Formats: sequence, structure tokens, C-alpha cells
Amino acid sequence: MEEVADIVIVGAGIAGLTTSLGLHRLGIRSFVLESSETLRVTGFALTTWSNAWRALDALGIGHSLRQKHQLIERSDRRRIVITSTVSGEPPLERSLKSKGKHGEGEIRCVRRKALLEELERELPSGTIRYSSKVVSIEDESRHLTLVHLADGTVIKTKVLIGCDGVNSMVSKWLGFKPPSFTGRSAIRGYTEFKGSHGFEPKSMRFFGKGTRSGLIPCDDQTVYWFFTWSPTSQDPNIVYGGRYVEFYDVMSVPMAIALSGQPLLGQPVMVKPSEAEKNLVLSTTSVAGASG
Ligand SMILES: Cc1cc2nc3c(=O)[nH]c(=O)nc-3n(C[C@H](O)[C@H](O)[C@H](O)COP(=O)(O)OP(=O)(O)OC[C@H]3O[C@@H](n4cnc5c(N)ncnc54)[C@H](O)[C@@H]3O)c2cc1C
Repeated sequence: MEEVADIVIVGAGIAGLTTSLGLHRLGIRSFVLESSETLRVTGFALTTWSNAWRALDALGIGHSLRQKHQLIERSDRRRIVITSTVSGEPPLERSLKSKGKHGEGEIRCVRRKALLEELERELPSGTIRYSSKVVSIEDESRHLTLVHLADGTVIKTKVLIGCDGVNSMVSKWLGFKPPSFTGRSAIRGYTEFKGSHGFEPKSMRFFGKGTRSGLIPCDDQTVYWFFTWSPTSQDPNIVYGGRYVEFYDVMSVPMAIALSGQPLLGQPVMVKPSEAEKNLVLSTTSVAGASG
């Protein structure tokens, strides 16, 4: 079967749905091809900064997501607490309220599921085509591309946008380099409490020898946490291998963090930062360095 579409987006993740909704707000129709049968809402949460909130406002979903996610900063209180697990220095508190070019900063920890569902809800029905795995792509002419699906369907399109994640078929077709291991590993999760968790609306960060970890509330009942590690050249005996761990009790998180650097089967326990945390980590590294 052959179909024709002006714009085809591959991948119904955050990037694909955001692109499609942005186009929709401009009155431009697109189709999103997604290999899975339903929206992939697994995962946990993303620390979402002011620039992301401006993008979400432009898409018309900022207001709704704000109702579901706590603001990490209130009045005159300082809201990021940075602790070195190596230096023994007291925790350093830093305000997130400094004014930038576009006003005060805004940070909330957004549940991945809530973000994806909000994006999906705002798209016209029929925009996302599930169970549509792209298996190959070819140029038909200078202006038309043929997208082949696993079920034999061929879609002829003028514009093809690749939002198909780390092992992107589109980027392979464009000749981009394959993904490479960044040398970082991470454990992440969130804990949902039956009642209010009692944590203040602040972001807590812990920096150790090659380790970074933290916890941040999403809303009154959910706390997101992560534990990351990146080896340095001073770590010659690294054993690579990832383990995914979820803690039932949020207090297990700082206890796990305290294990950082401790030997396990003769090797130190290690962690490292995620891509989604990159901006936050970069912005806090200099402060942590000053404390240690
Ligand atoms: C399941 C999951 C959970 C995550 N959880 C967290 C988290 O808790 N915290 C955090 O900070 N970051 C998390 N991340 C990482 C963060 O969400 C990613 O950085 C972000 O999702 C990248 O978005 P993306 O849209 O570029 O790619 P992705 O989210 O990877 O989306 C790509 C989509 O393309 C689809 N696809 C791939 N190949 C094809 C194909 N050939 N044909 C059709 N469809 C295809 C995939 O099924 C997928 O739905 C998670 C990522 C995933 C995939």
C-alpha cells in the first residue's frame, strides 16, 4: 500500500510529539510514526528549567503541567542544596531565583508520563500512528522520500523528521555517526507516597568522587531521585555493567548514595549523570567545586 503525506515525523517520544504539536499550533499537519503499540510512558521524571517552560507555554501545555508539578523555589527561601560527600564541608544552599534575561528562573520536576500524555492529548486524533515501525528509507527524487514500514506500507513524503531516539534509523540514513557510550551510568527512579511526602520543594544534590546524585519532589506525593557515576582516568579498575534499581522507601536513596565509593565485590560502587540532568549538573559544578 502506498500513501502520501507532506510531513512525516518518526518517533512518538518527547521530541516527536513536541515537534508535531508545534507544527499543529502553526496550522501545519504532520503524521507521527511510532513503532510501539501505545505511548511509551515508562521512565520517571525530568528536571525542567525555564527555557523548557517557555517552550511548553508556546505549545499551550505549560499551564496544565504547572498544576501537576511543584515549583522548586518559593518566596525568599533558597532552594538548591549542594553537599560534597568528600570534603566534609557543610551543605551549600543556592538560590534559583536569580533573574535572567527573561525574568525569574522556573524549575519543576515533570513526570515523563504526564508530559507525554499531555502532548498526545493536544494532538488531533489520528496524528500518531502506532505499530508503525520504519524499516528503511530511500530517496525517490530530490523532493520526495519513501518511508517503508514493517507492515509493507510505503509513505511518500516531502519532509521527513527524525525523532526516533538514540538508535535513530533516520540519522543512520542521513549518514550521522552511530551512538557512542559517553562513559556515564545512572540509576533513576521515583517514589510515590500514599500521603504527602513531607519534603520541602527543593532540589538536593550530592557530589562525591566521580558521583553525583540527588532528589527533587515532583508534586506533593512523588519524589524523583537519581544516582550517577562517571569514571575518570584515576579509576583504572573499572568494571562496566549497569543495574536498574528502584527503591520502595525514599530514605533508601541517601543510604544508597552514602555507599558511593565503597567496595563491592572488590570494586568501588559507581554512578554517573544522565543527559537530561546535564544542564543542571553543569550549572552546579562550579559551586560544588568551590565548596570542596
Ligand atoms: C522509556 C524511556 C524512559 C526514560 N526515562 C527517563 C527518566 O526517567 N528521566 C530522564 O531524565 N530521562 C529519561 N529518559 C530519557 C529522556 O526521556 C530522553 O532523553 C528523551 O526521551 C529523548 O526523547 P526523544 O523523543 O528524542 O527519544 P525517545 O524518547 O527515545 O523516543 C523515540 C521514539 O521513537 C520510537 N522509534 C524508534 N525507532 C523507531 C522506528 N524505526 N520506527 C518508528 N518508531 C521508532 C521509539 O519507540 C520511541 O517511542 C527516558 C527515555 C525513554 C525512551
